[in-house]
Amino acid sequence: MLSESLSRKLSKLEWLVFALIASAAILSFWALPTVAGFDGLLHVYFLDVEQGDAELIDFNGNQILIDGGPDSKILQELGRVMPFYDHSVDLVILTHPHADHVTGLIEVLKRYEVGQIIENHTPYNTAEYAEWTKEKSSIPTTQAQAGQVIDLGGSAKLTILYPFYPKIDDQEVLKNPHDAMVIFRLDYGNDSIMFTGDAEAKTEYKLLTSGTNLSAKFLKIGHHGSKTSTTENFLKAVNPVLAFIEVGKKNKYGHPHQEVLERLENYGIKYYRTDIDGAVELILDGQNYKIELGE
Ligand SMILES: [Zn+2]
Ligand SMILES: [Zn+2]
Repeated sequence: MLSESLSRKLSKLEWLVFALIASAAILSFWALPTVAGFDGLLHVYFLDVEQGDAELIDFNGNQILIDGGPDSKILQELGRVMPFYDHSVDLVILTHPHADHVTGLIEVLKRYEVGQIIENHTPYNTAEYAEWTKEKSSIPTTQAQAGQVIDLGGSAKLTILYPFYPKIDDQEVLKNPHDAMVIFRLDYGNDSIMFTGDAEAKTEYKLLTSGTNLSAKFLKIGHHGSKTSTTENFLKAVNPVLAFIEVGKKNKYGHPHQEVLERLENYGIKYYRTDIDGAVELILDGQNYKIELGE
């Protein structure tokens, strides 16, 4: 993964240099330091895909996309935040097979060159998941397992924290795909972000009792702010300063739940929510952070 992502990065840089030399007009408007993704900063976008999840990590021109939301709106969002010349996503992570996470990814696979996929492939019988499985058949796929590390270079790394085993018991998975969630933390310098997908209390408890280091400055709130997630003990263990809730306006599930919002407020954790703030961008330099809203 390391050598592969490095060669991919180099080829993108070479492409950019070529484009800059080839066009004086572009050169005057797109000086290298102003091109998103080549500024040495780590950008995390909590994209506005309405009721669903989609996050994009952009670091030195390499992109990792986590989930794709419920429909093709992800394409508009990627078009807005990715460089115009970039039609590849280095890694796609599918947290679990529910439609509000996988459906948009099918559109992404059709239109972007995707280098690799990480997921916890589970038996799940829906049209969307069958289409995803068909569409990704030619892309190298790794079964997620705690302990896997993806080195993004420059002291940035992504560590898979869950599932503990490459495959969870099929019957358990069939009952609730949330029990087979791909959960990971992204570390960059002194900063870290916990991505929990739609993990519920049961999985939070398994993580808490496993001895896993859960501490993270930033937390992607589980399951769109549902009261099934973000238990008090889990929140205390992560101990974030900022949280992000991905949720659609006036959704039929009543997400985010008032109990979860109150819990965050009680612990003095500021939060952003995509139904109110639109897409939220978190920018990290390894020491300090910055938030940009409403793009
Ligand atoms: Zn969901
Ligand atoms: Zn779900």
